[in-house]
Amino acid sequence: RLSKRLETVASFIPKGAKLADIGSDHAYLPCYAYLHGYITKAVAGEVADGPLRSAKQQVERTGLKDVISVRKGDGLEVIKPGEVDCITIAGMGGTLIANILEAGKDKLLGVKRLILQPNVGAHIVRKWLLDHDWELIAERILEEEGKIYEVLVAEKGDGKRPYENIETELLLGPFLLKEKNDVFLKKWRHELAHWKQIYRQLNEKAETESAVAKKRELEKKMKMVEEA
Ligand code: SAM
Repeated sequence: RLSKRLETVASFIPKGAKLADIGSDHAYLPCYAYLHGYITKAVAGEVADGPLRSAKQQVERTGLKDVISVRKGDGLEVIKPGEVDCITIAGMGGTLIANILEAGKDKLLGVKRLILQPNVGAHIVRKWLLDHDWELIAERILEEEGKIYEVLVAEKGDGKRPYENIETELLLGPFLLKEKNDVFLKKWRHELAHWKQIYRQLNEKAETESAVAKKRELEKKMKMVEEA
């Protein structure tokens, strides 16, 4: 059984897609996607030798060597231009996901959908999508084994949509903010409590320039989240 997190990612893969799963580790996601009829073929990309070996073993064990190509490489360098039309990048930080997309920009021509699952820093991914005219079309937030995950789905289009209050929505997620489900409320109540604690600690320290700057930044974020 796939994790709820990866099942959520898979649920957004368009039927018949040619997929690249970047940072595939065990290649669970492309194997599952093929076996459930989501995709016709896939590239599983991995930069590290251990996970690469796991991916190869899993693909062989599942009998999918002909349809899932496991390749070693950094980010999108494992795919040829036009080879895939859907890319998943899951289980990494938002900064790494944005860096992978930025470095592989030329490989995105012909890609219709990105499904991204940052473990932290989803706002960095939203900002990258916005700046490169990838329109966010759906978001999910879910909790599994005590951890909270966000899934962002984007298609090439108008990056400015669906934002209304851009600064707040980049941080919280425009769809997630509208939905405001229990997991979303839990996440942001927790973040808020954490920021307040940092703020108190900063208040006890000397008023250095950097402490003041950090406090201003926190005040801004706390206000945004509290208002939302
Ligand atoms: N995608 C799987 C998931 O969501 O369960 C695996 C997540 S695992 C925590 C992150 C994987 O990304 C690791 O196997 C790591 O080696 C790989 N990775 C990190 N940076 C990468 C990069 N620049 N290119 C390809 N793979 C990368």
